Amino acid sequence: MSAAKVFIFAPADPTAETHKMLEDQGCKLILGKASWDTPHGNNEAEMARMAEGCDALAGTSIRSSPITRRIMERSDKLRIVAKYTIGVDDVDVEAATDLGILVTHSPTESNWGGVAEGTITAMLTMLKKVRERDRHLKAGNPWRDQRLQGTYVGARADGYPGLTLGLIGLGRIGGRVATLMRPWQARILAYDPYVPDVKFTEYGVQRVDLDTLLRESDVVSLHVVLTRETRQMIAGAQLALMKPSAILINTSRGFCVDELALVEALQQERIAGAALDVFEQEPLALDSPLRALGDKVLLSPHMVSSNVGSGLRPGVRWATESVLFALHGEVPDNVYNTEAIPRWQSRFAGKSVWEVNPDPVTSPAR
Ligand code: NAD
Repeated sequence: MSAAKVFIFAPADPTAETHKMLEDQGCKLILGKASWDTPHGNNEAEMARMAEGCDALAGTSIRSSPITRRIMERSDKLRIVAKYTIGVDDVDVEAATDLGILVTHSPTESNWGGVAEGTITAMLTMLKKVRERDRHLKAGNPWRDQRLQGTYVGARADGYPGLTLGLIGLGRIGGRVATLMRPWQARILAYDPYVPDVKFTEYGVQRVDLDTLLRESDVVSLHVVLTRETRQMIAGAQLALMKPSAILINTSRGFCVDELALVEALQQERIAGAALDVFEQEPLALDSPLRALGDKVLLSPHMVSSNVGSGLRPGVRWATESVLFALHGEVPDNVYNTEAIPRWQSRFAGKSVWEVNPDPVTSPAR
């Protein structure tokens, strides 16, 4: 009898520690071409072939092909698709639910807390002209220059009102940004129709509608999950509401912003700047007009949360544990499509793959 089969469509474990965890439990691994460095890996047809007869799929974000129904349908034994990162926009979750497959993701604090810290770093880098001052001095320019003045962020006792920060999405990341920014004494607005009032009170932010947030904020920062509703939620009409002095920060997903409309707004100085960690196309095309916008943009290769020491490791471990739970017939603790659980339980609860398909050599003791 064969071992449990796990297709790691986008491996991101340089130590292979979690691969060993799976192999020690009796799993045969199939490794895809994509990785954390290069999100472009196998195409859909190749992935469908690799997923044939698999019990689990796992990996980090993949851009060459989402995990489609066609890929998942290649195995009637498939129990779980486990993402190492936050967000499942590269998995057809509706199809997974329909097929009775669990989709999990790994919202580790090192990841979401890292995005919050990186968001604030990007904001301050732009507002305080950190890059410009450094470049000015290294280029041997005269000592000071009025154009290098930064913007004071918080409210002051002398009556200066401070800036208004607008957070779109008040989940883990938006909430942490608010918590970290409160001591700066900035006014913080937030828009999130799915979060109760008590959360706004807890984070000390004012609940407003999206148009008010866009009109009144000096810094607008996106922290939403990518859904049909949030896809291009910041397009030309929304950018037109923003102040000409405002900056937009996007660390959520590239598709939440209409990139072409953003480029035009920046070129025509209808807004002052943008800090972007995520793009419609990743890696960012070499000829993207964003690369030609100088200090109006601060760009980062989708690694705003990447931290020395932890990297993706906690998420890779969590996802691997989720795979093992599912293979043993148990529901993991990070299921995204919770509505799939009852059907999944009727198919797999209490049934380990090794009992269903015993292998005298590899069946683990648990
Ligand atoms: P979360 O689920 O805790 O928060 C997302 C929030 O978005 C929720 O509170 C939800 O109510 C809100 N939301 C949903 N639809 C909305 C809408 N139409 N308008 C306003 N708000 C809406 O997720 P999180 O951990 O805070 O992460 C947010 C996103 O950040 C993730 O989904 C992911 O796309 C992105 N992310 C990016 C990186 C990166 O490396 N750049 C890393 C981690 C997460």
